[in-house]
Amino acid sequence: RKRRSKGAVQVEREFKRSKAEEDIQTLRNFSRYEYLKRREEKKLQHLKEYIIDEQYLFEGVRVSKAEYCDLKHKKDIYDVVSKKRGLESAEDYKEYIMPEAYDDHQQSGGVNQEKRFSVATQRYSTADKEEAWEEHQIRKATMKFGSKNKTNVSDDYQFVFEDQIDVIKESVMGGDKFDCQEEIASEKSRAKRSAYEALKEERKKLPIYPFKDEFLQAVHDHQVLVIVGETGSGKTTQIPQYLHEAGYTKDGRMIACTQPRRVAAMSVAARVSQEMGVKLGHEVGYSIRFEDCTSEKTIVKYMTDGMLLREFLTQPELDSYSVVMVDEAHERTLSTDILFGLVKDVARARPDLKLLISSATLDAEKFSNYFDLAPIFKIPGRRYPVEIHYSKTAVSNYMDAAIVTTLQIHATQPPGDILVFLAGQEEIESVEENLKYQMRGLGTKLDELIICPIYANLPTELQARIFEPTPKGARKVVLATNIAETSLTIDGIKYVIDPGFFKMKCYNPRTGMESLLVTPISKASAMQRAGRSGRTGPGKCFRLYTAYSFQNDLDDNTTPEIQRTNLANVVLTLNSLGKRMAEFPLDPMLSKMIVASEKYKCSDEIISIAAMLSVGNSIFYRPRDKQVHADNARMNFHTGDVGDHIAHLKVFNSWKEANYSTQWCFENYVQVRSMKRARDIRDQLAGLLERVEIELTSNPNNLDAIRKSILSGFFPNSAKLQKDGTYRRFKHLQTVHIHPSSGMAEVIPRLVLYHELVLTTKEYMRQVTEIKPEWLLEIAPHCYDPKD
Ligand code: ADP
Ligand code: MG
Repeated sequence: RKRRSKGAVQVEREFKRSKAEEDIQTLRNFSRYEYLKRREEKKLQHLKEYIIDEQYLFEGVRVSKAEYCDLKHKKDIYDVVSKKRGLESAEDYKEYIMPEAYDDHQQSGGVNQEKRFSVATQRYSTADKEEAWEEHQIRKATMKFGSKNKTNVSDDYQFVFEDQIDVIKESVMGGDKFDCQEEIASEKSRAKRSAYEALKEERKKLPIYPFKDEFLQAVHDHQVLVIVGETGSGKTTQIPQYLHEAGYTKDGRMIACTQPRRVAAMSVAARVSQEMGVKLGHEVGYSIRFEDCTSEKTIVKYMTDGMLLREFLTQPELDSYSVVMVDEAHERTLSTDILFGLVKDVARARPDLKLLISSATLDAEKFSNYFDLAPIFKIPGRRYPVEIHYSKTAVSNYMDAAIVTTLQIHATQPPGDILVFLAGQEEIESVEENLKYQMRGLGTKLDELIICPIYANLPTELQARIFEPTPKGARKVVLATNIAETSLTIDGIKYVIDPGFFKMKCYNPRTGMESLLVTPISKASAMQRAGRSGRTGPGKCFRLYTAYSFQNDLDDNTTPEIQRTNLANVVLTLNSLGKRMAEFPLDPMLSKMIVASEKYKCSDEIISIAAMLSVGNSIFYRPRDKQVHADNARMNFHTGDVGDHIAHLKVFNSWKEANYSTQWCFENYVQVRSMKRARDIRDQLAGLLERVEIELTSNPNNLDAIRKSILSGFFPNSAKLQKDGTYRRFKHLQTVHIHPSSGMAEVIPRLVLYHELVLTTKEYMRQVTEIKPEWLLEIAPHCYDPKD
């Protein structure tokens, strides 16, 4: 046995004594209670210092990083929502529940929210007043249903009763009490279960659920299956989960589900990750242009059809997938149509790949025929009767009519949410503003009306609002583009307002011009829209056109996009195995411009310009009361008069010099949101440059080099001044004009190139830059004849 040295024993004794003395001393100083409290606090303090990162302060309180992310995100969203809803008390704050997926997303990926905004559609969205006016004009021209006499819209409906607002509201309030008790009871029981359990129960109520086994058997037995089911039956959210549960992802391969729209891909992925109880971006993710929210772990991947098309470039046999589901096939988007051809080939080459084509409309035979008579799996729908109301006479302004109808429903109809179909972001914003204004004017005469817009560029947290259950005593009105026709299902909709229009991308091969036109919908679309109101109970659809128009003016079906669009991009994609340009998720012309910038040693400047062009026409804004200031600020970027592209570059660089400051944007009437998006896109383009090994070189003072790079991509968009002051494109007989918003509108150069043509009241060139004839001879001799 080892003996302890005397010294050690001594020290130990000393220590014990001093410790005891200390304790006694302490006890003397404090009551026992105080002492214990202090000791606990000390321990806690010690622990806290361990786990807390000093940097995370939330409103003055130190918190852990995870807590911080959670609180911060909730607060951000709370701020946005409370601004809209006027929530104020602290109670409301607590009760505001965030969909978990969004928190998760925020923490896991740290994906910049701004990146979620789209690029392509931005080009068409603008706050420009001229444009709004032009749009109005063109709409008038294409409006087949229009009539001359502006009648009081209120008289057009069978359900309108004059001066009923007060009376009706009372009767609604009287009838509320009973429902109220029920609601409270069910809410209590709901709260007991965890959100996950609740979702699990909800999943079992979907129409597809009873057919789960039958469906899995069918997938097992057939390589290609066409699936048909009403919108909301659970195709998009459930099928990938069923397949995952059945083992189709066991070997680590993924299930792909394509969507024609970015918003749908994002929103559905968020929902499914909640249902599966996983973080968005982990097992369940999405991939859209400029944003990849997936990881090594991902086994269920929602993606736009365009992104799957791109994946063919890197893996022609789609080896990382065990199942490909082409969803919303009935929409017949260009990418979907192209995908059909490609996946059909892949299915032949890879017998182990399962292919699902899903459609919300019943005319699925054509898909079945295309895929060698693949069997059709029908999910019996649950549909409640929908009353259809037509307007008695044609309406002259469908936005006004939609507003009036919304208010009338709100005032006179029993509880139930409203869905209004509008043609685009501008329309939605203007209707939203107007409705708010009207509601304010009505004061407390009506119940609360919660206005929820939904379009691609809306921040994600606001997009999620459309799915939040409507609080009791309030009514929700969702203002949507035709994304709500089949891609998104919103529960609780009882009334649909259908003005009968949508925005269609059209390509005119004669003029080489692509434009977004507000176009009458088809009969099939009108039926789909009406059906949205009869999902959870009997519904009503108010068509803002006459029964005669429905019968005589509407086509049966919408022309598939492939027959009305510019195929340049697709041809490029299909041809591009190995081509450098296909690396860029941009139009071929922009890609060409970037590739050419290597030669002119100005890639740095060119990607800034490309990013700004991709953001579109939402860079500048003109507040109604400060138009002159705004125009002056804008023209400041036009010194030297060489063109809008260079002006864009100047805007970007000045903002950069101002340290990307928000204040700078404010002072210059520039939209900070657009600028941030441009910066994100620019960062991505810089990454892509690296990938295709183009050096980032700056040549800021050589504006000619910059313009030549642009011309290399955009030479087909060059035009020459005519004697009458108009412009004419080379090799085309088309007359075009400089858009009034261009800085070149008053300069009138002899030769120009433009970024895009928009057909409104006239054929306008937007983003115009002056070029020189010798550049055309150098860069595009085949399309330029000096004598021309
Ligand atoms: P389908 O693809 O057949 O049209 P979905 O699978 O999209 O049907 O929808 C099934 C159900 O899931 C619907 O009741 C819908 O309301 C709900 N749902 C889908 N996406 C979301 C979401 N992002 N948030 C909340 N609920 C959603
Ligand atoms: Mg769907």
